Amino acid sequence: MVSVSYTCPYCDAVVEIERDAYLADKSVTREPLAGYEYAATTDDDREDADGIQFVCIGDPESDDGCGRTFYLNFITYENGVERDDGPSLEDAPKFDFRP
Ligand SMILES: [Zn+2]
Repeated sequence: MVSVSYTCPYCDAVVEIERDAYLADKSVTREPLAGYEYAATTDDDREDADGIQFVCIGDPESDDGCGRTFYLNFITYENGVERDDGPSLEDAPKFDFRP
């Protein structure tokens, strides 16, 4: 996990969150994107969502957040096209095992 900082689009406070080392961030917006499903910052499965919904709590030390909600959007396929997850290395191979 790595600590990543995002800037609130309302008040420019910096909010930090622990993320997987692999990042595919597209944008930070004030409004949720159509078709996106957002996880909470406290959600253990947040990396599997389309993005993360933040509440601006600001930096823990300066505590200057505005309390508004903004959205981190991950890169996905757009315009309603189903995303192509592609083959996963974790999928069991579909061999026809015979005893
Ligand atoms: Zn803010």
